[in-house]
Amino acid sequence: MVRNYSLRSGQGGSAPPTESHAGTSGIDYAAELNEQQLAAVTTRAGRALVIAGAGSGKTRTLTYRVAWLLDRGVSPANVLLLTFTNKASKEMIARVRELVGIDTSDLWAGTFHSVGARILRRHADEIGFTRSFSILDRDDQKQLLGSVIKEMNIDTSHRRFPKPEVIASLFSLADNTERPLEDVVAERGDALFEWMPQIEELRGRYVKRKQEGNSMDFDDLICLTADLLEKNPELTRLYQGKFRHVLVDEYQDTNRVQSRIIELLSGGDGASLMAVGDDSQSIYSWRGADVGLILGFKRDYRGAEVFTIETNYRSVPEILELSNAAIRANTSRFEKNLRSSRSGGGAKPALVPLADPSNQAAFVGQRIDEILGEADIGANEIAVLYRAHFQSLEIQMELTRRGIPFTITSGIRFFEQAHIKDVTALMRFVVNRRDEVSFLRAVSLLPGCGAVTAGKLWKKWLATGLAGAEQPPESWSDAIGAFKVPGKSAKHWTQLCHVLDELTPGGEFASPGDMVFSIVEGFYGEHLDASYENADSRRADLEKLGEFAADFQNVAEFLEQLSLLGNTDDGPNSGGKPAEAGPDDAPMVTLSSIHQAKGLEWEAVFLIWLADGQFPNGKVLESGDIAGLEEERRLFYVALTRAKNELYLSYPMTNPRSYSGDYYLRPSRFLNDFPTELVEEWRVRGTDEWGDDEPF
Ligand code: ATP
Ligand code: MG
Repeated sequence: MVRNYSLRSGQGGSAPPTESHAGTSGIDYAAELNEQQLAAVTTRAGRALVIAGAGSGKTRTLTYRVAWLLDRGVSPANVLLLTFTNKASKEMIARVRELVGIDTSDLWAGTFHSVGARILRRHADEIGFTRSFSILDRDDQKQLLGSVIKEMNIDTSHRRFPKPEVIASLFSLADNTERPLEDVVAERGDALFEWMPQIEELRGRYVKRKQEGNSMDFDDLICLTADLLEKNPELTRLYQGKFRHVLVDEYQDTNRVQSRIIELLSGGDGASLMAVGDDSQSIYSWRGADVGLILGFKRDYRGAEVFTIETNYRSVPEILELSNAAIRANTSRFEKNLRSSRSGGGAKPALVPLADPSNQAAFVGQRIDEILGEADIGANEIAVLYRAHFQSLEIQMELTRRGIPFTITSGIRFFEQAHIKDVTALMRFVVNRRDEVSFLRAVSLLPGCGAVTAGKLWKKWLATGLAGAEQPPESWSDAIGAFKVPGKSAKHWTQLCHVLDELTPGGEFASPGDMVFSIVEGFYGEHLDASYENADSRRADLEKLGEFAADFQNVAEFLEQLSLLGNTDDGPNSGGKPAEAGPDDAPMVTLSSIHQAKGLEWEAVFLIWLADGQFPNGKVLESGDIAGLEEERRLFYVALTRAKNELYLSYPMTNPRSYSGDYYLRPSRFLNDFPTELVEEWRVRGTDEWGDDEPF
């Protein structure tokens, strides 16, 4: 018989002094960790910050710290682990279980939102909710806001009121930065600020409606948690007694509300707090993250001990040297000096200029095929990273053509996005005039045109007898322009008819590229601006769609290709699913935005679209905002430091079909931040207009 016997966690938050680092599990901490990591893992300090560069083992340190605490007899119920994604915390806890071999189900681990929800579930009645409150996802939130806007009867005869999505983002930023809503709205320009009184009233009504509906949105999950704890010192003391050890990963991307929660929960006598992060990887200020929190840790937590780690375990020296040089160009940062633990002699990172975006995609596709063929590297050890989701379009198409399985974590598959479908719906309808679904989708986009009106218009269209005709009508304006529509839609209906006329001038089909252009310029662009917070990035998507369409002579062929690319529901390329959600474990190449790639690592990384205006982002360059540019550079650093062995930096030199007319692209200014000898330039020979012999 064996009796399990655990020591209770010691008062003072510190573990009993020990000679050896081995606990009951027998883990040899000194062998698994370097000296600096070991010092952090075994510290007795009540407040500790580990601030160190990428790949230095911060996450590993935090994982071993949890193991070490449990190994010293701390009960899992006394530990709270906060991470940036729930997936990350699951992986860390699985590793801890593997190391220590004890049941960790009582340990609280997850994102701030999930931990907030858990606390709120228990005490909802203290803030006017019941424990069975609903959590509104972004869609629910939009719907509720929409219904409140309707109920307010705002006069929109002259100007459109911002759509729920825009409103939600304003509320969210104000909540997460703890700034007055007025300031946040003012920053977005005069047009929006003119609506300030209505926006303010809307906020009040929205809050009330949530309360009446016993529902909370995502931001409430952290804001109400902080408020609950602040207003109930007794309750807070209860949690402080429970969470003797609070650990936080990716601390550089916490916001003020989250830091209040940390402060409250870890504020008990003798409790311990360990935060790990890298100020050079703070990349979420646009969502309210505040890098000042990690830089001011010592000020906020007096007597805190600060650990640094100076060894990088992830990357070969050639990649590390480049990353270090790249981030050095930023002025505001905590100086770090990272050395590689790995031996050199590997290839230098490749700098690969390509003629245009399709050549870039061809290069990435071919090189991935080669890596998969020549080395012992699986597809899941390869990632293609980019600044913005739309930049993955050519790569998605190239990998599809080559039959290389891939997963996209930056967003849903390009052709499955709502705005792409909206635009192509109109194209589908003019090609197949009996396509009710496409007609209804397109017509419902008009202001004042709900499902009922759209249905009536469809019937009228059928009644014209033109739906079954060989050719589209000579003039849509003549054929349907006079249909009766609600007053609010009248102007837009006329506009739509004009667009239809442009799509099929004289009953003939325009080219697919021109069609996309006409739809966006003639009707859809306005809808985007009014409906989406990220209208600019959606416009950029549509620009890409136009470029893609321009490769086709014939609209039917174009639409068919689209359906094939989009229809991947049961293939390995099933769209929009995060890497962990794949039904089968077939290895897949990861396509990810850099933001989503935080904390992760791959053997080979391709970083694409390294051209000024693409990365760094054009808006930041236009605004001349230095802080914004420094954040872009941190993002660049995050991207470089994801690679273990192979790194490819590529950019197209031209963007032949850019709507904005920027034919020639300038290499990203970030490429000037390091000496050229740190990279090896690859000259890639093209296979198309450049001829077989001419290098470009
Ligand atoms: P990031 O800044 O990107 O979040 P990080 O500092 O959290 O990186 P980890 O992800 O913890 O770094 O570690 C990077 C890689 O180095 C991992 O593969 C990890 O297992 C390995 N590693 C870290 N420390 C050691 C060590 N002492 N011995 C062996 N491998 C290590
Ligand atoms: Mg990490």
